[in-house]
Parts: sequence; C-alpha cells; structure tokens
Amino acid sequence: MRILIVEDEKGLAEGLKAILEQETYSVDVVYDGLSGLDYILSNIYDMIILDIMLPKLNGLDVLKNARNEGVNTPVILLTARSQVSDKIKGLDNGADDYITKPFDTDELLARIRARTRSAASPAQDDLTFGDITMCRRRQELKNDSRSVKLGNKEFQLMECLMINNRQIMTKDALITKVWGPLDDSEYNNIEVYISFLRKKLRFIKASVKIVTTKNVGYSLEEGSDG
Ligand code: CA
Repeated sequence: MRILIVEDEKGLAEGLKAILEQETYSVDVVYDGLSGLDYILSNIYDMIILDIMLPKLNGLDVLKNARNEGVNTPVILLTARSQVSDKIKGLDNGADDYITKPFDTDELLARIRARTRSAASPAQDDLTFGDITMCRRRQELKNDSRSVKLGNKEFQLMECLMINNRQIMTKDALITKVWGPLDDSEYNNIEVYISFLRKKLRFIKASVKIVTTKNVGYSLEEGSDG
C-alpha cells in the first residue's frame, strides 16, 4: 500500500510518515498543493492524506481537480479548523473522510484501514493467495506448516502481487509502487528482491510461484508441483 501525504507542516508530515512506515505502508510526502496534485495525478496511490490549508493550491481545489481528472483514490482530509463548511465542501468535492487536527494517531490509522480495506482484503488485514497467507501486521508470509518474515521491500512487492491476483504487474508499475516515483536508483534491484521472495516461497514450501513474463513483468501462479 502506498500513501501520499500532502501537508505543509513539516513536523507533522514527517511524524505521520514515520508512523505509517512503521505500519508497513510506503509513504511519499509533499508540502504544497500543486506538488500534491501532480503526485495524485500519477494515480499510483492507494490512499491520500490531504491537508486543506496548503500553499500554492488549497486542499479542496487539489481534491476537486483530482476528481475532475478521474482519480478516485480514497482521500482523507486533514483540517485544522473545525468549521462545518470546510467539511461539507470537502465531502462535496469527493473526499471520503476527514479528520480534525490535532488528531489521535490510532484514530487516523483506523480510518486508513477502513478506507483501504475494500481494495485489499474484505475482512482482515491478511491477504491470501493459493496456499499462502500474508499477515500484514507481522510482515510475514505463511502456509499451513511454516512461516517466514519478509523485509520491507519484499513485503511491499509481495503485497502488490497478491492484491493484483493472477494479473501480470509490469516491472515499472511495481517499481513505482514499491520505490516511489522519484527513485530510479534501485531500478535493477527488483530482480534481486523477486529472487529473495522466490527463496522464501520455497522455504515455506508454498505451491505459489512468482512467474516472470519476459519484457512485461511478474505475476503469481498457483502451481501443483510445488
Ligand atoms: Ca496546512
């Protein structure tokens, strides 16, 4: 899961980023409305946390523009003001939820989970595919007999593949999801991480495999021969 934070109070933005990363989300932060809109239009995010009072372009206009461009990523608005008019405007402009500053971190996390759940897994924080289950909380992959911890990038990659089910994810899409839009330094590392994941799948004796489609990308497949 990749989350974008658009918030000009740097302390708050960085603090939030650290908390979300601890919860195993990948996080990008931008500090003004115009950059926020740019990033949102890349359409790679699973969730956007958007402040209303922002330099260059306010959050409500960012939201309106994004929705007009057809981006339907869930948005939680942050507002310093408890003004009813802002909340109503926000919801009218296509926000999914809002939270008033100062807010309780646990409450925000609960709301994020509620808003991202439908996209990922219906009831639990766990994802399943074939004979494997991924426990998000523990960053762990398991089947009936064994389990194995995943490193952060491994976890992010596997999560993308599992959510995407049997469909092929292009290398570019995976890299953008896991490493973010700005980082091209790790471009070649994806193969390394895929090989780590394959080893871990073998270790837990999963029948699930990561299949490479040459020059296209990766997908999961349920094999019968282990
Ligand atoms: Ca602000």
